[in-house]
Amino acid sequence: MKLDATDLRYVTSDEFRVLTAVEMGSKNHEVVPTSLIVQISGLRNGGVNKMIGELAKRNLVSKVQNSKYDGYRLTYGGLDYLAMRALSKRDSMYSVGNQIGVGKESDIYIVADAEGSEMVLKLHRLGRISFRAIKNKRDYLGKRKSASWMYMSRLAAQKEWAFMKVLHEHEFPVPKPIDQARHCILMEFIDAYPLRQVSDVPSPGQLYSTLMDLIIRFARAGLIHGDFNEFNILIRRDTGEPVVIDFPQMVSTSHENAEWYFNRDVECIRRFFRRRFRYESALYPRFRKTLDDTADGEGFRLDVAVAASGFKQKDMRTLEEVRLCSVYVAPMDDLLSMPVSRIRQRRRGWWRR
Ligand code: ADP
Ligand code: MG
Repeated sequence: MKLDATDLRYVTSDEFRVLTAVEMGSKNHEVVPTSLIVQISGLRNGGVNKMIGELAKRNLVSKVQNSKYDGYRLTYGGLDYLAMRALSKRDSMYSVGNQIGVGKESDIYIVADAEGSEMVLKLHRLGRISFRAIKNKRDYLGKRKSASWMYMSRLAAQKEWAFMKVLHEHEFPVPKPIDQARHCILMEFIDAYPLRQVSDVPSPGQLYSTLMDLIIRFARAGLIHGDFNEFNILIRRDTGEPVVIDFPQMVSTSHENAEWYFNRDVECIRRFFRRRFRYESALYPRFRKTLDDTADGEGFRLDVAVAASGFKQKDMRTLEEVRLCSVYVAPMDDLLSMPVSRIRQRRRGWWRR
């Protein structure tokens, strides 16, 4: 999907009302009947039909012919538009530049504010890969797939935002969070290469211990990144310092599978250093030891701070369930060849807390 900043200006305020009506209607309708769109928008019938047509032409809504009635669905393009409009109304962003990344579950764009300072806009797109992989095996979200995935993407953005704020406030090396709307996060642009693209560093040993120290620092503050790998670690172009990104899967150290997540993070780094830099160390953090040392350590719990920030535990659980029946149960390839009963079995284990 291409984002077009000029579109932000060419949608009239009435068209915007109609688009918002489609979004509101999607809360309890998979396909929003045209009559409901008219009703919610509070505009005249004839005018609304024409405007829906305009919005559909720009791919902000799409027409769905249902067996019972015709109606419309908000597209990701429409949701992107609504989020960007909210961000630009608050003067958080002004223009959209190039796409710099397609993540597993997001699109990343360079955007700028009115002064031309660059920032990063991350648009969450849950369900893109994870769902396709298991679509035939499970029907987790029932019939309202697209709306539900938009809702999940929103939760993912809210969760990521809550964690980024708390981490940034406590001076962890993460991008500065700037604003959040719907399924989007606006953050500081880091001039860096993903570790994945780095073939040479002055001292692999030093970088290795910096990264392991970070895992320990997270854990002492009650957190585990959960996806701590060469794609989510950026190496600053000027100083070579690492910056950590991508937080929708963070878990608390009191999560019942905390140790498993912790070990996986540690193992990702060890494996990458072995393969890329031929560097191996007998020293690496152990979960129990790290937590035991915490007793007389930091004295603050960021998992508690996040919980206090307003992102609900219930929503955290919902996201986790969705992730667990998609990518995070196992690597994608394993998942595809795994019998459904085993996926269920694994999920059951993970759900309990
Ligand atoms: P996903 O959840 O889809 O993996 P990420 O947050 O990891 O999304 O971002 C995907 C890619 O976009 C990263 O690997 C990185 O190259 C780039 N990126 C993300 N955030 C920033 C940022 N703040 N500054 C610079 N590049 C970024
Ligand atoms: Mg990532």
